[in-house]
Amino acid sequence: MERLVSLFVSLRRAARGAWPVLGAVLLAGVVALHAAYPVDEQLFAGFILLVLVVVGVRAWQRSAAVEQDVWREVELGALLAVAAYATTIHVDGDLDGRYYPLIYVAVGVMSAFSRPGALFGVIALMMGFEAAIRWLSTGEVPAMALLPHAGFAMVFALLNALSLHMEVARLRRASKSELQAERDRIKEEARSYRLLRAPVEMAEESPPASRAQDVERLLRSTVEEIEMSVLLALRLVRESLGVHTALLLWLDDEEQLRISELSSDEDVLAEGPYRARDGILGAVLSQQAPVCVAPLKPSYVLPYYEDVCPVRAVAAVPVFEHGVLRGVLVADRKEPQAFDEDDVSLLEQAAHFCSRSIANERVFVQLERTKVEQGQLYRAAERLGAAITEQDVVDVGVSAASEIAAVDFAALTLFDEDTRKHEIRAVVGGDEALLDQTFTHNSGLCSMALENRHPLPYRGEYDPGRQIVFNKKLSPPEMPSLFVLPIVVHDQALGTLVLGSSEPHAFAGSERHLLEVLASHMGVSLANARMVRRLEEQATTDPMTGLLNKRAMLDVANEKLRSAKRFGRKLSVLVADIDHFKKVNDTYGHDVGDVVIKGLGAIHKRNKRNTDAVARFGGEEFVTICEETDAEGARLLAERIRNELGDASFDAHGDTVECTCSIGIATFPEAGDTWDELFKAADEALYQSKRGGRNRVSIHTRDDRSAA
Ligand code: GH3
Ligand code: MG
Ligand code: MG
Repeated sequence: MERLVSLFVSLRRAARGAWPVLGAVLLAGVVALHAAYPVDEQLFAGFILLVLVVVGVRAWQRSAAVEQDVWREVELGALLAVAAYATTIHVDGDLDGRYYPLIYVAVGVMSAFSRPGALFGVIALMMGFEAAIRWLSTGEVPAMALLPHAGFAMVFALLNALSLHMEVARLRRASKSELQAERDRIKEEARSYRLLRAPVEMAEESPPASRAQDVERLLRSTVEEIEMSVLLALRLVRESLGVHTALLLWLDDEEQLRISELSSDEDVLAEGPYRARDGILGAVLSQQAPVCVAPLKPSYVLPYYEDVCPVRAVAAVPVFEHGVLRGVLVADRKEPQAFDEDDVSLLEQAAHFCSRSIANERVFVQLERTKVEQGQLYRAAERLGAAITEQDVVDVGVSAASEIAAVDFAALTLFDEDTRKHEIRAVVGGDEALLDQTFTHNSGLCSMALENRHPLPYRGEYDPGRQIVFNKKLSPPEMPSLFVLPIVVHDQALGTLVLGSSEPHAFAGSERHLLEVLASHMGVSLANARMVRRLEEQATTDPMTGLLNKRAMLDVANEKLRSAKRFGRKLSVLVADIDHFKKVNDTYGHDVGDVVIKGLGAIHKRNKRNTDAVARFGGEEFVTICEETDAEGARLLAERIRNELGDASFDAHGDTVECTCSIGIATFPEAGDTWDELFKAADEALYQSKRGGRNRVSIHTRDDRSAA
């Protein structure tokens, strides 16, 4: 039904789109009829005019439409074709005259705005028109005339579409390279103004785009700001000194000068860089003082003028930043009148203004950077503070590191001071097989970073052929950048954070320090997470045997009983108690008694299944809960425990002690359906074992209950 409805809807949509095309076909019919039964020529000329008006209106509507519909293109093409055929017939009388190429012109126009599907649809329609016109006027359809026409129309359309496509691609390429050149220029300017502390690789298109885009946006606005201030200074110099050209030349890394900003009447100036060893610019650089020359000979060379020097007087002053020479401010004029002391003083003030606005913007960039960095650390610290499990700390740490640097791989290793072993506890973006692997403390980067309490490697570069990270067998994936940070709290070595990046120099700049701060926050959070885990363990485990304590067991018991009830499964409870234990204590002392209790705990641990829960319930009494186990299954387990304790002997200050135990079993649902009932029933069965002579296993039955 749904399919039928959607078929109906799409048919209706197609019909709605197609009806204007039908209109065009009707007009074509008029043309064909005119070819066979000519009407008054003036009337037909009026008809052609009408079709052209319709073409114009539809073309205008199409250009205004937001969404381009294929039917509109077919309709417009068909209308154009009708106009072309009508004109040809009107002028030549048939389709074999000199004006037939008008049809190809129509195809050419269409190929400029139509999609290929619509275009070929229209060519098919045109051939239909042509066939109809020929058939109506001569009574036959000569395939020999139609086929070459169709072929030419196709070739014409294809060539046109191809050349259009190539032109669009060329324009796109050109604008892309213009854009790239502009980005490179801004980057270069930023570098020359020392806005960039270290080479920051701008993003091409690849992630992490947002961080790189932020840097780019900041630099772009800063460079614009500098350009505006410098331009203002240059314009003021021109206005007040009647100067032909005023320009700021800036020294690049190779000690060459290039135009940073200029204000001039001259159309073409050489941007640089120029090696300014001699001439007036060389003199300013070497003397680090203003130099004026006037009148200049017509043959004098000023490197920023490409052609003959158009000026007769020039003055240049050095631009300093914190006492360091950074560029030259130059002013020249066409009149041979020399620049006087006041002029030079004004130029020096302008130079000072330029260098101060660059310095101000640099401070702004640094402040902006610091703000961003502090924000990153603040957010990371906040989230790390809320992390209470090791996994939380790893997750937050890795995501915070990814905000600071371009991280593609991260791993956390934990170090055990007692065994001197490292364990890989988390892996993100790498081989999952690394997870839970251990390696000994060695001379690899992780061990050494932890040993020396210092991040490694020094430059953050990774060469898998030479460097060992974990050990010889275990390594992170191959990537150009790697950074191993020690995680240390109060001088206690906890582990390392290993970061890798597919970008070169990802850990070469300011991010290193930020990551170190992050690692120290992670250290505190890891220590907290460990403490929380220890507290939780202490609250739920019995310190002597490492089994659950009574409180934790009650929670587990109720949980397991609930699920047994929900799924209608059996559940058995075992209560084991050492026989005549008081005698052991009395004879050998409490410490030996403790050894026996630990021994029975170990026997329970060895024999329990993963789904069983075992607790030391108090004194020398142990409780086991076995899920999906009936009384007979529980008896097997109980017998194993009883036999193992019976076979064991414990050291008692040189003597050996042997013990036995008695066990009682109760099974849900037969023995009861609450924990209290089940435990009471198991205890009754235990009493049964004691009464029956000890060192035995008893299962609770209804008779026991009635007896009890
Ligand atoms: P029965 O065969 O009837 O069980 O006799 P029993 O002597 O074992 O009697 P009962 O089970 O009541 O004995 C419990 C004794 O366990 C009492 C107490 O001195 C001893 N006990 C309880 N907790 C500890 C402990 O932590 N360490 C040691 N060494 N003894 C404990
Ligand atoms: Mg007891
Ligand atoms: Mg006992």
